[in-house]
Amino acid sequence: MPLSTLANKKYTSYLNCKNKENRFLQTLISDLEEIKPSTIKQLAKLGLYRVQDLLFHLPQRYQDKTRITPIGNLQIGTEALIQGKLTSSYIYPGRQSSLFCCLTDNTGSISLRFFHFSYWQKKLLILNAHIRCFGEIRQGAKSLELIHPEWMVLRDKDGSIESHLTPIYPTTNGLSQTTLRYLIQRIINELNTKEIEENLSTELLKFIHLPSLHQAISYLHQPPPDASIALLTEGKHPTQQRLAFDELLAHRLALKQLKLHSYQLQAPVLQASRKLIKQFLTIFPFALTQAQQRVTEEILGDIAKNTPMQRLLQGDVGSGKTIVAAFGVLQAVETGYQAALMVPTELLAEQHLAVFQHWVSPLGIKVERLPTKGNIKARRQCLMELKQGDIHLIIGTHVLFQEEVIFHNLGLVVIDEQHRFGVTQRLALLEKGQGNNYCPHQLIMTATPIPRTLAMATYGDFNTSIIDQLPPGRSPIMTVAIPDFRRNEVIIKIREACREGKQVYWVCTLVEESETLQAQAAEKVASDLNQLLPELNIGLVHGRLKPQEKESVMTDFRVGNIKLLVATTVIEVGVDVPNASLMVIENAERLGLSQLHQLRGRVGRSTERSYCILLYHGPLSKLGRARLDCLRTTQDGFEIARLDLELRGPGILLGTRQTGLISYRVANLLRDQDLLAKVDQVADKLIAQYPHYIPKIIYRWLGEGSRYKDV
Ligand code: ADP
Ligand code: MG
Repeated sequence: MPLSTLANKKYTSYLNCKNKENRFLQTLISDLEEIKPSTIKQLAKLGLYRVQDLLFHLPQRYQDKTRITPIGNLQIGTEALIQGKLTSSYIYPGRQSSLFCCLTDNTGSISLRFFHFSYWQKKLLILNAHIRCFGEIRQGAKSLELIHPEWMVLRDKDGSIESHLTPIYPTTNGLSQTTLRYLIQRIINELNTKEIEENLSTELLKFIHLPSLHQAISYLHQPPPDASIALLTEGKHPTQQRLAFDELLAHRLALKQLKLHSYQLQAPVLQASRKLIKQFLTIFPFALTQAQQRVTEEILGDIAKNTPMQRLLQGDVGSGKTIVAAFGVLQAVETGYQAALMVPTELLAEQHLAVFQHWVSPLGIKVERLPTKGNIKARRQCLMELKQGDIHLIIGTHVLFQEEVIFHNLGLVVIDEQHRFGVTQRLALLEKGQGNNYCPHQLIMTATPIPRTLAMATYGDFNTSIIDQLPPGRSPIMTVAIPDFRRNEVIIKIREACREGKQVYWVCTLVEESETLQAQAAEKVASDLNQLLPELNIGLVHGRLKPQEKESVMTDFRVGNIKLLVATTVIEVGVDVPNASLMVIENAERLGLSQLHQLRGRVGRSTERSYCILLYHGPLSKLGRARLDCLRTTQDGFEIARLDLELRGPGILLGTRQTGLISYRVANLLRDQDLLAKVDQVADKLIAQYPHYIPKIIYRWLGEGSRYKDV
């Protein structure tokens, strides 16, 4: 039986005999009283469906409103709660008038500035009013200042202050912190009389030397005033470490079970005369590199056995992994089986479709991409052909493992750019072939070179193949770092490059994960560039475009109609347009090195000399400079990954997305590496001594909420 179903089934039966508290944790948020339907929708966007999901939805940071700081002791750059009397309040006239106040206590004064204010704000923020404010202290022109602070009028002089640190939760448009806080608070209050059920025995808790789940969860939603904000911000507080431990444990257990489980399953023997491969090689315009030949043999050797292959193919950007995957596909098809290729973005799905159709359709192989749900007729047709075995290779994003997708006989699953997928997605896709008690072979490909311990945590015990050689004739990508006030020079360079028939990427980056903001920024850049370079045909691609729009822009770029492509980081992985040989990356100082390396890998994909311009917004810190220098001087992804870890240092916590490792909810593989050894030991102990705990732990962290979450 498929593992995730196994976990769910056991868990459900287990649930039936559980006490009240657990049933409460499993309650759907929509079944709670007095919750607005709009709130339920917004929570669902965050992957929060059940009470338990809310409890495990942890603050991303905290504010300290538990103490009042005397104005004389304020420090620039920190957030503080202050109170005092308004000693002036006036409206500064102008096109858009603003409200200025001066707040004074017996240790000093600070300015408050409001660039937008309402009638009632003006009425309340008057001379002599007693005010309490919270915000970030900045250095203004004349004095310290707070811009748009949170504020309240104090009715009596002391008014009560918060008894806990104030949590700030990750949220989504339209869902306020107040609503989230209120909801989570409400649940914690209900829980207070009961305990959140522990995942580990007392003995194991002692072994890992971390607090209980209940302690950890309640602490993190309401840290006491003396909690260390520094530790919490770094994610190093023991309560956070406990949850990170649990999450890593859940993944580890899932991977271990996956492995154990697949040992018991048969895989189809994909062994054939290599007729298709030979035919294909006559069409392929290049000779394979030695590294490509070597790993091809490793893969073909594996899939010719009746145990499921579990192989990880690492190879730097541009090293030619796709073709190697194609050999596996050809072998599967020649043996009479189907293959699936799963990719992390629609853009990449489209590109792979074009590449594979070009490569293998002439050999009579039918390649399709799974149409979206909106495209009902085409989708139904595709699903039917897939079920009957008429389609040999199907390409798609994680939609490939939706339940309605049924294969005739899936022999090989290739997952490209694996670091974007979590173990849940892999579990789900593997279920596809298991109807007849067999399991398809699995090849996962990634450009992210990571140390063995991290690889284990991410992929499980996979065999590894490495393409350690680039195709011949590739010269290093000339990389320069230029401050953004020298944009004009960059424009000239673009003009020259396009005049010579080259194509150019302009990548807009924002650290915010909001696609809307990213799209807006990219639109602005595109329209600016249109004015500066009116002679060029400029395209724009970002995550807010409809799939067809994205595809048509990418096609125009691929065939050369578009000379300059303005893009967000949607093009980060896998995109292959060999004629593009200049890339400009804006705000390069804000991105992780591995991500920059991935992005840069979109150029330098032919024998043409390629350039990458890292535009940064100065002044650069010493570390910032060292990071850009590293990219300027190094092309080797392994070396860059190593330096990335080294230069990151404590205090700089970039999201895991930027490092190319999979994203967890709480854990961060880089930060929490030290936990991994114990995670492994505890996983083994659970398997040996407490197997009945396992489905529950897996479910808790990899349950339905995370299962179909978009990657
Ligand atoms: P990645 O490993 O980043 O996925 P791709 O598979 O997209 O790289 O290959 C990058 C480019 O190199 C493609 O345009 C591909 O056709 C080309 N390529 C692959 N193998 C060779 C080779 N042996 N010689 C020359 N070019 C190659
Ligand atoms: Mg690729």
